[in-house]
Amino acid sequence: MAIAWGLAGRRRKVVVLDGGDLDFRASRGNFALVWVQSKGAGMPEYGCWTMQSSRLWPQLASSLNEQTGLDVCLRKPGGLHLLLSDRELENRANALKRVHNQPGMEALEYEMLDHGQVEKMLPQIGPEVAGASFCSQDGHVNALRLLRALHVAFARLGGEYRSNHLVHRIEPRGGEFSLSSSNGVFTAQRLVLAAGLGNSRLAPMVGLNAPVRPQRGQIIVTEKVAPFMNYVVHTIRQTDEGGVMISDSVEEADYDTSIGTEVLSIMAARAVRMFPLLAGLNVVRCWAALRVMPQDGFPIYDQSQSCPGAFIATCHSGVTLAANHALVLPALIDSGTTPLQDLQAFSTKRFDVPAAH
Ligand SMILES: Cc1cc2nc3c(=O)[nH]c(=O)nc-3n(C[C@H](O)[C@H](O)[C@H](O)COP(=O)(O)OP(=O)(O)OC[C@H]3O[C@@H](n4cnc5c(N)ncnc54)[C@H](O)[C@@H]3O)c2cc1C
Repeated sequence: MAIAWGLAGRRRKVVVLDGGDLDFRASRGNFALVWVQSKGAGMPEYGCWTMQSSRLWPQLASSLNEQTGLDVCLRKPGGLHLLLSDRELENRANALKRVHNQPGMEALEYEMLDHGQVEKMLPQIGPEVAGASFCSQDGHVNALRLLRALHVAFARLGGEYRSNHLVHRIEPRGGEFSLSSSNGVFTAQRLVLAAGLGNSRLAPMVGLNAPVRPQRGQIIVTEKVAPFMNYVVHTIRQTDEGGVMISDSVEEADYDTSIGTEVLSIMAARAVRMFPLLAGLNVVRCWAALRVMPQDGFPIYDQSQSCPGAFIATCHSGVTLAANHALVLPALIDSGTTPLQDLQAFSTKRFDVPAAH
């Protein structure tokens, strides 16, 4: 929806063909962080792309607010990754050093904090917190309101949204694309595959390769409480409405979205060690959602060489990158250059390398 809104703002006639309410949709089940500090290990371009999106996020939030009156509740107080032992603290410091010492990585201001420094920022932490990494560019939003605002703003710009239009076949024909959906056939000169997990099936129809797989994440939400978190924590955040969300699981479970106390109890126990007051709160909701995880973890943006006019955009961390997708990517798609200018690092070509034997 971010890309569709951006394209509609460039006076393109845009139609979004989407699945139904019960389809997999990470945009509805995510943790809503705008997270920068750890991004880019192994691909500095991804770290820089993420920092750019974090910088653009206030512009996205205010544009959506102007067009729709909806506040997506962007908060960027800075984020902490809490660590529960000296060993964790040391590993984290080394990992961040490796990320930020990579050639081509833009300088990121982050610092390692000890227990006392963290306690000054988050007085409710427990005694087991050994320290944290802190980055002032990290933040969070209200992800459901973001999705709604993008839909409303898109419609106001004349965009057409069609739900229950699952595309099952794409045929390139004489410079156009014919899309057969569960509710009719559509023709377009340009096409952006932004179908999340659906992209792995759709991409080969236009000569592209998008190896994405589902990766399950479980989330716990507590009852609403008075604000006690002035900062956002990587695995725990207090929403604008007061509930506390906990998300700490990364599971290879194929397309299974079931939840289970086995994982939820570990997440809850770790969260309570970080903030003992959480032990006294009622849990009101839990769910699992599927991340759209590219094979190497990095975003995929490209235009098909065999079918020019067909683009792909898929990533994990689509909330963080929403500002880029709304404000930067549409102009690159409009320009039509192949590979997408400035985004060569994210091309699908990286998946063409034969495996070593
Ligand atoms: C548990 C969890 C926590 C997360 N936390 C964060 C976070 O804190 N910060 C962050 O930045 N990101 C986070 N993410 C990732 C983020 O939610 C996703 O990167 C983002 O929502 C992906 O958006 P998308 O539109 O590409 O995919 P989706 O939201 O999955 O949407 C894909 C859409 O494509 C449609 N579709 C599929 N196939 C077809 C087809 N054949 N024809 C038509 N339509 C089709 C589906 O119906 C669906 O609506 C998290 C994800 C999960 C699951």
